[in-house]
Amino acid sequence: MFSQYNNCTLCPRSCGAKRNGDATASCEEKPDNGVIGRTTDSCKEKPDNGVIGRTTDSCEKKQDDGIGICGVSHKLKIARAALHMWEEPCISGERGSGAVFFSGCSLHCVFCQNRKISGGNGKELIDEELVAIFLRLQEEHAANINLVTPTQYVPTIAWALREAKTRGLTIPVVYNTSGYETVETLRQLDGLVDIYLPDFKYMDESLAATYSKAKNYPQVAKEAIAEMVRQVGEAAFSEEGYMTKGIIVRHLCLPGEIEDSKRVLRYLYETYGNSIYYSIMNQYTPPKEPLAWQNLNRKLTEEEYDEVVDYAIELGVENGFIQEGDTAEESFIPEFEVE
Ligand code: SF4
Repeated sequence: MFSQYNNCTLCPRSCGAKRNGDATASCEEKPDNGVIGRTTDSCKEKPDNGVIGRTTDSCEKKQDDGIGICGVSHKLKIARAALHMWEEPCISGERGSGAVFFSGCSLHCVFCQNRKISGGNGKELIDEELVAIFLRLQEEHAANINLVTPTQYVPTIAWALREAKTRGLTIPVVYNTSGYETVETLRQLDGLVDIYLPDFKYMDESLAATYSKAKNYPQVAKEAIAEMVRQVGEAAFSEEGYMTKGIIVRHLCLPGEIEDSKRVLRYLYETYGNSIYYSIMNQYTPPKEPLAWQNLNRKLTEEEYDEVVDYAIELGVENGFIQEGDTAEESFIPEFEVE
């Protein structure tokens, strides 16, 4: 067990969950259902608030079941570990990226594209099995190890990477994240991660508050990306064209919100110019259950996407990836092996 899962502050939610368990918990009722904002029926107070999954102060026990806002305890859970062909060409290429999709997520966007697993569904593994998975993916000629939504498991992952490296893991390691990261947690990965693949979702705090209940997302993401750039520096590529180190910042354009997309790109370009790579994504997939925000119940239009891409070109972005055609299909979302 890793002590950082006690009173967990691994991500900016800093929810203090006792993910290793709390033998002293006195609240008899446990949170009931594994979904955001959960509380038991018998706990009179309902989640308060704006901070997902927190109960009110008058509910004496908070997060005492070992499950954090991210939906997982210290027990390692993953939803898929396989060669993945749908990342940027310099990440997936023809060999495929060795993607490990971790269960849970600390952000919980209303439009989550991986909602089958972000609540915490997945297969439980012992830590040692993660080492074996990394080595197996390398044997399958994966171009890299691609850690997808890894934040809530950083202590376990850092241990497993060190262990795998001592046993012969040599391919680059990609850290594929929502961008909602603390600098302290990222520092645990210094020297272990070669490529950062963060999202930068919003520049506008009110959008971040509305769609992800994380008003501080823009500031958090700025600081996280600065730390990532500090760690990995300028991009480098293998002879085959795979990225071997560097940072690609992704931005998923949201229908009806392209002015914010432009603000994100402007910030990044004014801060980093062409020393980083940009990935401007059009693959937004509306959820099956309609959302309260009508704009999120449709795909991005071609005109909207073109406007954002044109804006990036006008800014001077040269190191960019764009998506062609209609990628916003459910088939773009991998099949997860959840239990
Ligand atoms: S990683 Fe999970 S348990 Fe830890 S602070 Fe974030 S939401 Fe809470």
